[in-house]
This record gives sequence, structure tokens and C-alpha cells, in this order.
Amino acid sequence: MNQAVIKNGTVYLVGAGPGDPGLITVRASELLKNADVLVYDNLIPSELLQQAREDAQLIYVGKSHGKHTLPQEQINAVLIEHAQLEYSVVRLKGGDPFVFGRGGEEALALAEACIPFEIVPGVTAAVAAAAYAGIPITHREVASSACLITGHESPDKNGSDLDYGVLAKRRATLAFYMGLRNMERICGNLIRHGLDPEMPAAAVQWGTTSKQKVVTGTVETLPGICYEAKLESPTVFLIGEVVSLQEHLHWFNPDQNPDG
Ligand code: SAH
Repeated sequence: MNQAVIKNGTVYLVGAGPGDPGLITVRASELLKNADVLVYDNLIPSELLQQAREDAQLIYVGKSHGKHTLPQEQINAVLIEHAQLEYSVVRLKGGDPFVFGRGGEEALALAEACIPFEIVPGVTAAVAAAAYAGIPITHREVASSACLITGHESPDKNGSDLDYGVLAKRRATLAFYMGLRNMERICGNLIRHGLDPEMPAAAVQWGTTSKQKVVTGTVETLPGICYEAKLESPTVFLIGEVVSLQEHLHWFNPDQNPDG
């Protein structure tokens, strides 16, 4: 084990990138190759696991059939216990560990248990999927800001933490994670709060991989188009003027991407 690269008793919260294994950072790859223990989710590119040491312990804690195989507290406990046994632990998460990845919760648990940790950012899905679809997430004079938004708010929750009035009125690109099932409700809310129903919108399924699928429409038509196209998770959807650039800028052909 290389002490300069990785330390025993430390947990590394590492972003694996959005899907294309080539989009992992050099630091993440270095840690992956040296870890004693690898704790991973289902959205990480599976090819990356082949980079682990032959004797590394691989622990899967991802979701199956919509449920966590392990509750979050138990995932935290797995990280803490292995670090206390003086192993080097890499917690590999899809995209970036702090973007809707519960990395913040895991880091807090580690801090509370006085376990040293390091955060390795990753390329987050909305930015990467937009790029591979040919959609600049910001563009001068078209979108001067971009919002990363969860589309996964529970329907039985009273109200919403999302201020649709504000979202509908900003000249921002809106990027929704985990929102496929709620897309109709989200788009409807945005229109009710004043967003132009003709605003361009796109959904990207399995962005950056050989399974990438992009559909485009407007904020009004996108839910129906996604339904017709049978899009499934993982999908991000993007709403904003920048989406209209996609017809000029699409460059990625998933059929020619043997890696993803
Ligand atoms: N931490 C991750 C996000 C985890 S939430 C990140 O930074 O990317 C999981 C959601 O991310 C999925 O429901 C989907 O909306 C999105 N997602 C992850 N990978 C994706 C991909 N390859 N293409 C499109 N969306 C993706």
C-alpha cells in the first residue's frame, strides 16, 4: 500500500463521475487503485471496480428495486468500522459526492466519530449529461446561472421546498435530478408560476454512456415525449433557452462509445 497516496484509517468520499469511466479524476483513480476497502453504489461505472486491488474488499451498499440495500446509518457505520480497523476506505459515489449524493451526511458522521476524511469531487451528472447532449449549461446572454434541483420531493409532503415562482422567473438553466417520475408535476408547476410553456427542455438518460438517449421538446411537451420514449432512471432533465443550442452542438454518438 502506498502511504503517500492513501492513508490507513481514513475514509475518502470520492466522486466516480457520471458514467463514462474516462470521466473519473486522476485523484479518484489513484485512490481506487490503492484502497483496502471499496464501498460503492449502483450508479458508479462498473468498469471502475476492475481498477481495485485484487485483495481489496468490495462492499455494495447501493439501491435495489428502489430501496437502499442498507439504511444510511448502516452505511455510515460500515465506513466508520472499517476506518477504525485501520483500513483505507474509498466510498465511491456516482457523479459528485456532495451533489444529491448524501455525501454531506456521511462526512458529518465521520466528523462526529473523529475519523479523518477527504472529499474528492467528481463530474456531476447534470453538467456531464448536458455536455454530452450538446447543451452548454450556461451561455452568455442566454443563461447566466444554472440551478441543480432535486425532482424527488415526496408527493405526500406538505407543499414543496422548491419555490416555483422564483425558478420560473429566473433566466437560469434548471437541471432536475431524480425527477423523472415527477416531471409532469414539476413542469406543470413551472408553467403555472409563469414559465413560458414554449421554453425548450431536454431529458438525458444514461448521459455519457453507450446507453445515452436524448429527447427534446418544450417544458409543456417534455413529459409526454419522455413517456413515449420510455425513458428510465437515471435521467436528468434540463429546462432553459440553452437547450435550443442542442440542435447545433450535439456531437456525441453513443453507438461509437465502446467504454460507457
Ligand atoms: N451524486 C450524483 C447524483 C446522485 S442522484 C451526481 O453528482 O451526479 C441520482 C440522480 O442523478 C439520478 O436520478 C439522475 O437524475 C442523475 N444521474 C446520475 N447519473 C446519470 C446519468 N449518467 N445520466 C443522467 N442522469 C444521471
